[in-house]
Amino acid sequence: MKGSLKIGAVGGIDIKIHFTFIFIVLWAAAQGASDMGGMRGAAFATVSVLLLFVCVTLHELGHSLAARRLGVRVRDITLLPIGGVARLESMPQKPSHELFIAAIGPLVNFVIALGLGLVLLFMMGARLFFNLSYLARLMLGSDSFLSLVVYLVSANLVLGVFNLIPAFPMDGGRMLRAFLAIWTSYPRATRIAARVGQVMAIGLALLAFSPFGNISLVLVALFVFTGASYEDQMVQARAALRELLVRHALPLRPVHAVAPEDTLASVMEMGHYAGQYDFPVVRERILEGILARNDLLEALRQVGGTTRVEQTMRRDFPRVSFDDPLQYAQQLIAQSGLTALPVFDQARFLGLITLEDINRALVDRAWRRR
Ligand code: ZN
Repeated sequence: MKGSLKIGAVGGIDIKIHFTFIFIVLWAAAQGASDMGGMRGAAFATVSVLLLFVCVTLHELGHSLAARRLGVRVRDITLLPIGGVARLESMPQKPSHELFIAAIGPLVNFVIALGLGLVLLFMMGARLFFNLSYLARLMLGSDSFLSLVVYLVSANLVLGVFNLIPAFPMDGGRMLRAFLAIWTSYPRATRIAARVGQVMAIGLALLAFSPFGNISLVLVALFVFTGASYEDQMVQARAALRELLVRHALPLRPVHAVAPEDTLASVMEMGHYAGQYDFPVVRERILEGILARNDLLEALRQVGGTTRVEQTMRRDFPRVSFDDPLQYAQQLIAQSGLTALPVFDQARFLGLITLEDINRALVDRAWRRR
């Protein structure tokens, strides 16, 4: 993520903090100074919030290590003011794997709460430990070690329970989807889980305006609602990509070819009239190269319009068959850094496919499904 700084690594997984993280620390320090008084209060609150984020990191590490164990690569963990994000390189394939990876996070929080709870029990004795009003007073009013532990126990319980809410992007949403995916298809499970999440979000928003409510719940509700929609759209689009084939997205317009000895200036001029900026380079009806839009513009900037096509075209390029899944074409475009790929039927060159063509096919399909 942009604006993040690496602060360490655990088991080969980078831990980063986003620069906005500093605001939550400053905010905590200011709160501590005003609630508990002076430097001591500020220092106490700062330590408390930093320890809380250690717990958030452990939660994300739980997801990450579980994912890695199941063969899913983990990019890094980034800490933001709203919590942590572990970035997985792919989605777990089996529903049971997703269920396991999602469940580990809240479980880590419950284990921490249990461990610290035992410390409290040991320090205070059973009589005070079960005295809820005493615990509440400890948490609110003082800056002792005991109150710090009480704060961390309750914060971990809240984190664990909050993440179990069955709504994306919370872990509970992923668990619900994985659970449903045991019986039905992954896109359908996602659709149902997303709808459940959206209903929960609306419920949260209504709760915000009730006598027990807090206006910040509206923000949480918005976060949950958009998170659920986003997850649903992403999964449906990916499913569509798998179902659609390259020939479904291949444009019907004729593709203009250029010759290896053409100049870039003449190609540019032709492209301007034809509305085409990716070109197959053909000599005697054989495809010799690809002059993609990004390469064309780069070459025009660097060496100018008198350069010949054969000096800048790519001779080495991936090709797709018109019966390949669209998802494969999209992946190849992303990997090759080309803006267009040649499509073949056996040895016959059919035309070029671009990201726009793929997106258009997806939109068309979504439109027809309405
Ligand atoms: Zn989580």
